[in-house]
Amino acid sequence: MLYFIFALIIGSFLNVLIHRIPRGESIVFPPSHCPLCAHRLGVGDLIPVLSYIFLRGRCRYCHHRINPRYVVVEVLTALLTLGWAAKFQPDLSGVVHLVFLYLLLVIGFIDLEHQIIPNSLVLPAAVLFLLYRLYQGQLLEAFLGSLLPGGFLFAIALFYPQGMGMGDAKLMAVAGALLGWEKTVAAIFIGSCSGTVLLLPLLCLKKINRKTPVPFGPFLASALILVVLESKVMAFLFRWCEYTFLSF
Ligand SMILES: [Zn+2]
Repeated sequence: MLYFIFALIIGSFLNVLIHRIPRGESIVFPPSHCPLCAHRLGVGDLIPVLSYIFLRGRCRYCHHRINPRYVVVEVLTALLTLGWAAKFQPDLSGVVHLVFLYLLLVIGFIDLEHQIIPNSLVLPAAVLFLLYRLYQGQLLEAFLGSLLPGGFLFAIALFYPQGMGMGDAKLMAVAGALLGWEKTVAAIFIGSCSGTVLLLPLLCLKKINRKTPVPFGPFLASALILVVLESKVMAFLFRWCEYTFLSF
């Protein structure tokens, strides 16, 4: 229960990151406000999930619809935290992996909306993971772990930039530093397969065409979450929620 409340609060913070980082806004200032009418939000507007339900998904001041992403991210953060608590202890390794899971959620949603994976998220993660592996005395393993998956995607991004961005390659290099190359390559495989399985029906139904830019980041992020938690249910839920959000 304590984890659940903690997760809802973190979820609100992740929403702030998802909204503000790609727009180059400060994370701390200004305080939370409605993105449409800029009215500053009070405590009653900021209760995770409940505010959204009570306000029926609309801003209290300008009555515009609130992006359903806010509530989706809050619920996903709670699910991720519960999945994490089932597998990890709240020790150093656990905390580093929890930060990674939250980061993947933020990156997945930013890439879905803006087709970018910001360096301002990937670089601090790289530093954190390398310091953590150094502390464990596994710095060499960390470098080797990022070399194969990072290099592989880097090569694809170089020769086939429509299908793969440099951001994807950087993300997987950073993931490899923490998880090792085996799990990271598995995540690339799962991400590619799930991407194909989910996009083929959309292609057939002509909801998208071959030229529609489809970010690969959300698939990679979901696959990494699956690999970290080793839970099929979690990754399925995550992807399902993403595509519910995408269809709005
Ligand atoms: Zn408003």
